[in-house]
Amino acid sequence: MFNFNSDKKKKIEKINLGIKQTVLERAKYRCQVCSKKFNNQEIPFFNHINGSLKDNRPANLKALCKECFEGTGENKIKDNMFGKLRSLIRKVI
Ligand SMILES: [Zn+2]
Repeated sequence: MFNFNSDKKKKIEKINLGIKQTVLERAKYRCQVCSKKFNNQEIPFFNHINGSLKDNRPANLKALCKECFEGTGENKIKDNMFGKLRSLIRKVI
């Protein structure tokens, strides 16, 4: 059977902790869109400024809260992918 999860992990490179730390310090531990402070409940998400998910340089990353990250389109792209997949499966069935 298809294993979408393991396939996805291979393609998207993880942002390492040191880079996350650099981006968070630069953002003063706040969302770079709405200035919400990050804490245990408000986990930072990392948006790729140039759109390339492989470009994990600190200069290409923005620290965002969940709400702002969802508005960036990175999540929407994923949703669309699954939406397309779902409609494809529906057609087959
Ligand atoms: Zn925000």
